[in-house]
Amino acid sequence: MEEFKAYIDENAERFVAELQRLCQQPSIAAQKVGIEETAEMVLSMLQRIGARARLIPVAEGSPVVYGTIGEGPRTLIFYNHYDVQPPEPLEEWKSDPFAAEIRQGVLYARGAADNKGDLVARLMAVEAYQKTRGELPLKLKFVFEGEEEIGSIHLGQFVEENRGLLEADGCIWEGGSKDLSGRPVIYLGLKGILYVELRAKGAKRDLHSSWATLVPNPAWRLVWALASLKDENDRLTVDGLMNHVEEPPPEETDLLRQIPFEEKKIKADFGIPHFLGGVKGVEALKRHLYGPTCTICGFRSGYIGEGSKTVLPSEAMVKLDFRLVPDLEPRLVLDLLRKHLDRRGFKDIEIVEMTGEQFAKSPPDAPIVQAALEAARTIYGQEPVVYPNLAGSGPMYHFSKALGIPVASGMGVSHAQSRIHAPNENIKIADYIQGIKYIGELIVRFAEKG
Ligand SMILES: [Zn+2]
Repeated sequence: MEEFKAYIDENAERFVAELQRLCQQPSIAAQKVGIEETAEMVLSMLQRIGARARLIPVAEGSPVVYGTIGEGPRTLIFYNHYDVQPPEPLEEWKSDPFAAEIRQGVLYARGAADNKGDLVARLMAVEAYQKTRGELPLKLKFVFEGEEEIGSIHLGQFVEENRGLLEADGCIWEGGSKDLSGRPVIYLGLKGILYVELRAKGAKRDLHSSWATLVPNPAWRLVWALASLKDENDRLTVDGLMNHVEEPPPEETDLLRQIPFEEKKIKADFGIPHFLGGVKGVEALKRHLYGPTCTICGFRSGYIGEGSKTVLPSEAMVKLDFRLVPDLEPRLVLDLLRKHLDRRGFKDIEIVEMTGEQFAKSPPDAPIVQAALEAARTIYGQEPVVYPNLAGSGPMYHFSKALGIPVASGMGVSHAQSRIHAPNENIKIADYIQGIKYIGELIVRFAEKG
């Protein structure tokens, strides 16, 4: 691979310019800014490296840019997204979020880390491979969506409608970053999520609070209902829910022991004296990565302005999210929640389903995971940190579960302070160049496993 790496170093300036050009094209899904133009730009980048590529429309959403290149016994999917978060607040940026300015070896742009840097790095790796080693040793499929930052609302539909295009032996997810100490990170799954609103109604309009003697208060109704979902020790008490929660398998507990978990720093950063239940070390990690949650994200009722207003509210609403572990499908949790509330006399409380995503998980011994680890050891010269799954959620299950393709994630071009979704999002040029080399090494390693 020496010639391959040398080619990347020789062409580094042009590879950076390619990334700058894509970062200079806004693609803000939430504001419907520049989506079509960016899809076209990514399409032509794919075509320039020799891929057969096209835009695949999905309902009313952003098109998926799909491409294939190479032949071989194995097929690998690269999943990325070309949309970005809104850049606001603009006044906090040191340079224009779409100027893609480079200062002291760092590229600043909305989308540089999440996720254009990884997207372009993968394309540049394919170019470098072909120029120095000829035909690719496997078949690559590129799936670049344009709605990740607004919840991948049509990705499930895209996958269902295009199953024939998505057959593969492995998938490399979006991207990722090194951790605080610079070690490469790889993760194999994500929690699921169910997001709901609970709504309660009282009188048909707000009343003088003296009527609290005779008229029900929907805010109290919600408080009583919420209090039945969790106990004072922070254990979930939704009927039947914990029956679906299992201890992590022993081989994954071993992985947990190798994760550098800087709990002191985290607690100091959050300004809390200790974690819930006083858990520490591996126990805390276990709870963080394998425990389901029920979180009150917001509560609205009555008067919350300045001063006092004696009012009996006519309605109350709470936003709740549940982070879900393997057996807890969003549908099942919704059903358990409904029954739990009904059994306690809360039939009047309406549940409005907002979003649901399933748990995703790939086995640590899958060939794509092993290839990703081997490539990381070679390119980064360090043992990667492996998270069996993360505490967050995402649309990975469309690939790992619906299509049954093992997925490895992490190992991206970002670093621990890349400020994704925030002002001054950035990546280090050196990480980007190293990330291109990593992808070439990964292609070789995965092809060898076929
Ligand atoms: Zn994002």
